[in-house]
Amino acid sequence: MSGNGDGSRSRPAEEPPPDPRPRLAHDRAVPRTVFVAPRRAARPIDTPGDSSAADCPFCAGHEHLTPDEVLRFPGPAAAWVARIIPNRYPVVEAFAAGSTTGSDTPAHGVHEVLVESPDHQTSILGIDPVAWRAAWSLCQRRLAQLAERGDLAWTTVFKNSGPAAGASLAHVHSQIVGLAFVPPLAVAELDLAGGVADPFADLLTAAAADDRIVATAADLVALVPPAPRQPYETWILPRHPRPHLHADAGSVGALADLTRLVVGRLEHLAPGADYNWWLHQAPLVGLLPARWHWHLEILPRLSGFAGFELATGCHVTTAGATESARQLRA
Ligand SMILES: [Zn+2]
Ligand SMILES: [Zn+2]
Repeated sequence: MSGNGDGSRSRPAEEPPPDPRPRLAHDRAVPRTVFVAPRRAARPIDTPGDSSAADCPFCAGHEHLTPDEVLRFPGPAAAWVARIIPNRYPVVEAFAAGSTTGSDTPAHGVHEVLVESPDHQTSILGIDPVAWRAAWSLCQRRLAQLAERGDLAWTTVFKNSGPAAGASLAHVHSQIVGLAFVPPLAVAELDLAGGVADPFADLLTAAAADDRIVATAADLVALVPPAPRQPYETWILPRHPRPHLHADAGSVGALADLTRLVVGRLEHLAPGADYNWWLHQAPLVGLLPARWHWHLEILPRLSGFAGFELATGCHVTTAGATESARQLRA
């Protein structure tokens, strides 16, 4: 990325330096909201294929390279299994009430990193299954803490795995974000749910009828949604309505197991494939649909999003839902 603001270009003396704090820019004609986060231009980026533990800030023993820890899942002695730290290059940060950022809105919230292994693993498949459950358990605890704060409207956890998925550091990690508003995609899902008694029950019934269920664990189901954006897109959700993962501590073990299983199948079908996943939960404020299910959407990044996707908002894929599910089960 270019333009990381090293100050080498001089500014007229009377012009104040640009505000480096994150903010929200709104375009009401489109409509569109953009997070403007100038400090992110300076974040470190691993060269693909050249990730090294020597200077990795997420490896055990390098804790001094990161901001102070928020929470950890302890290991033996002074060791840790997983830890959560503030994101040094946040898209949101804590703003005092009444703060302003010019014509934009202050981007108030929380942005943290969940480091999922003390070792320099670059795939979740390299993590011991018990330790992987611990990482999810820590994540669930942190989401529960954020729900208690009272200043956030919505939270998520998301993973960028590999450069095509937007990862800048290769060491396994996810990001936890809490926003002061409910973002457009979540609003759209909730609006849709408002007209249906239980849209996710319908999704589960149709997936069973169409042979799109990939696997189950405890009360959770991994299925290919009816309109996958890429081959092998998979969602994980509870069979019964539960709006928030942060209130569903009993599901995190099965969620950990199913994420491992799906990523393992993806790795078998498309070795080295990059992918994203993200959690959609109901908001923390306002009226909720009567019956709603949190869900984790796992999106392989086998091809890039290009002009057609940007122009239309529609995706083009080479494999439909039933075929994707059949291959993922094989
Ligand atoms: Zn590392
Ligand atoms: Zn969703």
